[in-house]
Amino acid sequence: MRATLMYGAGDVRVETVPDARLIEPTDALVTITRSCICGSDLWPYKNMKPNDGGRRMGHEFIGLVDAVGRDVRTVKRGDLVVAPFMWSDGTCVFCHEGLQTSCLHGGGWGSPDVDGGQGEAVRVPQADGTLVVLPVGRDDALMPSLLTLSDVMGTGHHAALCAKVGPGRTAAVVGDGAVGLCGVIAARRLGAERVILLGRHPDRIALAREFGATDIVSERGEDAVERVLELTGGLGAHSVLECVGLEQSTLTAISITRPGGAVGRVGVPQDPSIPAARQSFFNNTTIAGGPAPVRAYIESLLPDVLEGKIQPGRVFDRVIDLDGVPDGYRAMNDRESIKVMIAL
Ligand SMILES: [Zn+2]
Repeated sequence: MRATLMYGAGDVRVETVPDARLIEPTDALVTITRSCICGSDLWPYKNMKPNDGGRRMGHEFIGLVDAVGRDVRTVKRGDLVVAPFMWSDGTCVFCHEGLQTSCLHGGGWGSPDVDGGQGEAVRVPQADGTLVVLPVGRDDALMPSLLTLSDVMGTGHHAALCAKVGPGRTAAVVGDGAVGLCGVIAARRLGAERVILLGRHPDRIALAREFGATDIVSERGEDAVERVLELTGGLGAHSVLECVGLEQSTLTAISITRPGGAVGRVGVPQDPSIPAARQSFFNNTTIAGGPAPVRAYIESLLPDVLEGKIQPGRVFDRVIDLDGVPDGYRAMNDRESIKVMIAL
């Protein structure tokens, strides 16, 4: 079968790899129908040291179950399924707490022996705990929005929950990538009265407004902080969603949080420490967040997608086939595309 490998910064190739196959009795074999490139894939695309073996890429996908191991109960051959960006058993103490990203028997796609999502097929470990059956056909018009349940919509939702978004509160979203845009959807969905987006790209700003952003701040650094304070009567936002992961964006997020407010951070941190320790201490700022347990959120978000109440799939502005993946990375890295979908 064919799959995507990264050999170093800027070096993405689609190559023939060993066919995915069942190994454990708890596995499912899934033929991928839709996949995508993630903003987090761009970090290694910018920084990865060259390696000879290549790293299997991709952690967001929808596909058809081809076969299941003898212990699998909840999915069967022919089911269309969505996978979260990490796999989990659904039975351990953390899965029961809804924190499947800390599953004691879970892991990530593309790790040794587990395929990546940007390829033709995947061995899915712990299929019962991991996969969610979708009640639609493989080419349903909702496919883009359903695919966001793998990661970006669940991640935006996690940022909003960690930032304690609720009715009557003012939310601010730092970052206008796919996760930030889904964060706008999530903040409105949870009842935020105002949603301030911090972003600079006209196409993304336009989409954010359609998703419910009420104010846009395109300044950067201290100017951005000043502008948000102006918009909030000098107080700051109750709930701030940090959807980038850089030191500067985290500093901005903490600096625009109202005393007693919360920062929900879902951008993978690119620095070892969190800035503004004194400011967040003296403001009693809650700083929460981490990898989103999207497996837990699929069940609450899926009905809204099926009913058309939210349309997170609009973050996809380009569709490619597997051969187009290297150029898809380039397009996202060059900010030519917000998010690229791979149709197989
Ligand atoms: Zn578990």
